[in-house]
Amino acid sequence: MNLILLGPPGAGKGTQARRLQDGHGLIQLSTGDMLRAAVASGSDIGNQVKAIMERGELVSDDVMIAMIKDRIQEADCADGFILDGFPRTTAQAEALDEMLADMGRALDNVVEMRVDDLALVGRITGRYSCAKCGAGYHDDFQKPATEGVCDSCGSTEFSRRKDDNAETVTSRLEAYHAQTAPLLPYYDGKGVLAGVDGMAEIDEVTLQIEAVLGAG
Ligand code: ADP
Ligand code: ADP
Ligand code: ZN
Repeated sequence: MNLILLGPPGAGKGTQARRLQDGHGLIQLSTGDMLRAAVASGSDIGNQVKAIMERGELVSDDVMIAMIKDRIQEADCADGFILDGFPRTTAQAEALDEMLADMGRALDNVVEMRVDDLALVGRITGRYSCAKCGAGYHDDFQKPATEGVCDSCGSTEFSRRKDDNAETVTSRLEAYHAQTAPLLPYYDGKGVLAGVDGMAEIDEVTLQIEAVLGAG
């Protein structure tokens, strides 16, 4: 099964992709995580994209398409993947269609996660994650069972993304509405789009996505 989670920054794509990965044996492919790893490693690509990400703008289609093209051909993607954060432009969506066709594969579902812009600001400014295993948390909506201790790995170190601040959120939301939202009619036209209520609680959103996958 090949799946796209589509939605604005903070919609819950990463949270749900990690759950689906565990439950369905699919691989989560987060382009944001890949880019952050490139920045941390100090590679040429990393140095090239660092400032763009900090401003909340989109990295160029050429870089993103090459990155995903390499990644989906790796062996661990053979049974299916969940794209989280890609595609974000029509050019990326068209390139993805072409790559999948070349590989004799297709998209099964594109799930739109609908969340109000106002709620997104609070989701993003309250987001943090485990520095060791990457598990995601939120100051108000998803706290670890024991304060300061990761549920998944027991680590006591956490980190916040540099771009998760109120100023950058505005440009990220603008980028979503201007450049990514046109993908909704694009996928609707192909008959693969389904929407879920991303404002619901995390468990409820998972159930809604499971229902889409089951039906699809
Ligand atoms: P995205 O990958 O779409 O940017 P995340 O999955 O990182 O979004 O979620 C953003 C923040 O909101 C995280 O801190 C996460 O814990 C929290 N979150 C995710 N889903 C929900 C939800 N349904 N209700 C409330 N908070 C949520
Ligand atoms: P979020 O879901 O919170 O918006 P991501 O982790 O998906 O965050 O992305 C972080 C940043 O990485 C984006 O603001 C953008 O600069 C860059 N990025 C990630 N994926 C893409 C993509 N497919 N195309 C262009 N830029 C991307
Ligand atoms: Zn952890």
